[in-house]
Amino acid sequence: MKSIKEANIVNKNIIIRCDFNVPIKDGKILDDNRIIKGLDTIKYCLEKSNKVILLSHLGRIKTEEDKKNNSLKIVSDYLSNKLNQKVGFYDYNGDLPNEKIILFENTRFFDLDDNKESNCDMELSKYFASFGDIFINDAFGTCHRENASNVGISKILPSYNGFLVEEEISNLNKFIEEAKKPFILILGGSKVSDKIGLIDNLINKVDKILIGGGMAYTFLKAKNIDIGKSIFDEKNFDYAKKILNNYAKKIILPIDNYVNRNDKKELVNNDEILENDICLDVGPETIELYKKEIENAKTIFWNGPLGVFENGYEYGTKKLIEILNNSDALIEVGGGDTSNAIKEYSKNNNIIVSTGGGASLEYLEGKKLPGVFYE
Ligand code: AMP
Repeated sequence: MKSIKEANIVNKNIIIRCDFNVPIKDGKILDDNRIIKGLDTIKYCLEKSNKVILLSHLGRIKTEEDKKNNSLKIVSDYLSNKLNQKVGFYDYNGDLPNEKIILFENTRFFDLDDNKESNCDMELSKYFASFGDIFINDAFGTCHRENASNVGISKILPSYNGFLVEEEISNLNKFIEEAKKPFILILGGSKVSDKIGLIDNLINKVDKILIGGGMAYTFLKAKNIDIGKSIFDEKNFDYAKKILNNYAKKIILPIDNYVNRNDKKELVNNDEILENDICLDVGPETIELYKKEIENAKTIFWNGPLGVFENGYEYGTKKLIEILNNSDALIEVGGGDTSNAIKEYSKNNNIIVSTGGGASLEYLEGKKLPGVFYE
């Protein structure tokens, strides 16, 4: 990988693509994890007497109205505080501010003009590139996307990976190259489709795949279990059957479930699911089953909550986190929902939480990330 450490960066204008896509409510940053994780690269460049230009996206911009709620101005104020020096803010009008650090307004504001940022428009890339001599990508969360503000600029300027990108890739490599056994994959969330690439790429490397969440019910149906009105992914039904056929012993599915039955929460075994039941969480017997596997595991990758935890069905996800808290395995968690659950229920610093759910999944699927630069 092209490391920031190899770059000749003294007295230069450096463009750093950061990931400041943080949750903001009523003018307050609710979770600054991504900003904090990006500080090392920014400080490193400042120490070497550079002028630093920071680019980032925030949210999705589809209408003029979206611009109001997704300005990065609040992040520039926040950064001034964290870095103890004033961070200038540039909204693409007039001259650049004089400060040594300047944060540019949300790069996705250019999406209102023919999706120029998200479609990696080269004119926009050239415009961004015109502000610097060297480009550093430190936004791991968008490394799987070809945007003007990452891949586009890298076609014009000498480009390197920042410390956060290096750290995230090095964490993920531990799961691909040197995973200690038993290696367990825990999958949940609503969609089977999002996880197929991951299952296909890792099934021969992992010892067990524990499947919970909404995606489990397509697999249970593939075993002829009546799943009532639970979420079902018809498109991937044959895939689920194939995986169960070929790897029966590797896949562990729920054996009991919390269901919504006439607007009441009930605990039922798989053979007790009624026609109108909606399975929204895994039950205690399933958790016991998972626990036995997790207790022996040396490496664990988890993506997707085991139930609708944000809406009263948090039992499985919370219990799973409790079990992971007591594990000394190498554990990484990817994915926005899963990371939120960790933040809510976990105090264990051993759990590595990736700043990029989509990017980490694609990397583990074996895909090349266009925003990661190699020699
Ligand atoms: P994903 O985007 O595929 O990772 O899915 C995350 C979402 O899956 C969360 O919003 C959960 O509420 C949802 N989820 C978890 N378990 C279930 C379930 N049993 N039925 C429906 N949705 C679920």
